[in-house]
Amino acid sequence: MTVLDDASIELPCPHCQQAVKERLGKLKLSPRITCPRCRRTSEVTPEALQRATHKLTQAFANIQQSLARLGR
Ligand SMILES: [Zn+2]
Repeated sequence: MTVLDDASIELPCPHCQQAVKERLGKLKLSPRITCPRCRRTSEVTPEALQRATHKLTQAFANIQQSLARLGR
């Protein structure tokens, strides 16, 4: 478990392109999203999950850098 597991990511529904929010920790356990718009369940590919994780890691790094600058 990492701090990222608690973060939510948005993935586009492959059926209607609606952005679906899901927690990263939950997606690691069961990589599928249920779209609130068309109510269909879709598999999340490992690639999509990895891309989203990478984006999130960068966002966290940016926040930490900003905080470090404030502390100085
Ligand atoms: Zn959908």
